[in-house]
Amino acid sequence: MLTVEKTVVWLEVFAKKVQENKAYLSELDSAIGDGDHGSNMGRGVKAMEEKLKEGGYSTIQDVFKLSSMTLLSKVGGASGPLYGSAFIAMAKQAGNDEQDLLSILKAGLEGIKKRGKAVRGEKTMIDVWEPVIEALERGTLTKKTIEEAVKQTKDMKATKGRASYLGERSIGHIDPGAASSGYFFDALLEGEI
Ligand code: ADP
Ligand code: MG
Ligand code: MG
Repeated sequence: MLTVEKTVVWLEVFAKKVQENKAYLSELDSAIGDGDHGSNMGRGVKAMEEKLKEGGYSTIQDVFKLSSMTLLSKVGGASGPLYGSAFIAMAKQAGNDEQDLLSILKAGLEGIKKRGKAVRGEKTMIDVWEPVIEALERGTLTKKTIEEAVKQTKDMKATKGRASYLGERSIGHIDPGAASSGYFFDALLEGEI
């Protein structure tokens, strides 16, 4: 069951992981994009961390709403509006059904899809969100599931986002947004939610 405290810890651990792996995320993006995913996300999660420290929230919905606004205004690039949309959708869902993690995550995925018009298999963050949520629903989600979903993007050809400009040459590299999403779900598991 999701609580306000668990949600905050989850997002704090996510922020920590992204900041620790900023260079790696930008390295992944250098291969198939413009090399800024680590700095984009790093900037966003740092601001989110600071906002969460200030408090000013009392429900799960507040936590996601506060975080969505920070990510939207600070991340930039393609990933800012996508994570922003996910978090806005999760906030909205948390308002309907306060503690149901699965429905909150499903709403987040729908938010990303609606915003980016991508589906599974196009070498984006969706290739982590969708299989991870499916595994959570089956009760089989482990760190390995997440790691494998991230790794599987390596063999995919990008047909959405900046990496799609490379066509076939995008094959052979892990998608940076898939990697940052991997940290999001790793953080969830570490919080034992
Ligand atoms: P930019 O490409 O503008 O520099 P980032 O480097 O921060 O933005 O983010 C790139 C990531 O965004 C990609 O690795 C991919 O996972 C994700 N992405 C891009 N376009 C889409 C889309 N239409 N749907 C879902 N995810 C996308
Ligand atoms: Mg980029
Ligand atoms: Mg960019």
